[in-house]
Amino acid sequence: MNERVLIVSAPSGAGKTTIVKEILKKYPCLGFSVSATNRAKRPGEVNGRDYYFLTKEDFLQKAKDNQFIEWEEVYPGTYYGTLKEELSRLSLAGKRAIFDVDVMGGIQLKSIFGPCALALFIQPPSLEILEQRLKQRGTENEESIRKRIGKASYEMSFADKFDSVIVNSDLSQALEKVFFLIDSFLNNK
Ligand code: 5GP
Repeated sequence: MNERVLIVSAPSGAGKTTIVKEILKKYPCLGFSVSATNRAKRPGEVNGRDYYFLTKEDFLQKAKDNQFIEWEEVYPGTYYGTLKEELSRLSLAGKRAIFDVDVMGGIQLKSIFGPCALALFIQPPSLEILEQRLKQRGTENEESIRKRIGKASYEMSFADKFDSVIVNSDLSQALEKVFFLIDSFLNNK
């Protein structure tokens, strides 16, 4: 694995998706790595663009067949993973992968790609603010928010496994730091 790739991880609701979208706008050399999942499609999501939406059976069969670079049961009964063929797809398109994955997935990918990966950890300013953001986003019910907050506080303890931690209290400041890090990483051949 000697292609340069970018890994962006964060507790859910830290603003990671927005940051990844801005990165993709600024760096046409990067291509979004579309993960597979068995979670239900949200309104507006498109199969093959946001995720490859699989049944639980299909997902677990692919895991058994060793078709994933990494996969995780991110929430009980809900699986997410990066298919090996996704890397080939991006490489054929002449793109470097950007992975939007959970914290454990980010640590796994970093261990696979080593110095060829820049692993960024997006940190919410506080758990209270994270809870507010998840409520405002309106995609999760109370139960799911409670689970995501519990998981987030655990995930924050892994921030030091990443190359850089970006506290997302102000989006434009966070983006400035992210762009600076990516510029140095991509230009440092
Ligand atoms: P959501 O359901 O909100 O789209 O995603 C939930 C979490 O799963 C997010 O933290 C997202 O980054 C993570 N995720 C998405 N794809 C993957 C993947 O391929 N592997 C892992 N480990 N996590 C993923």
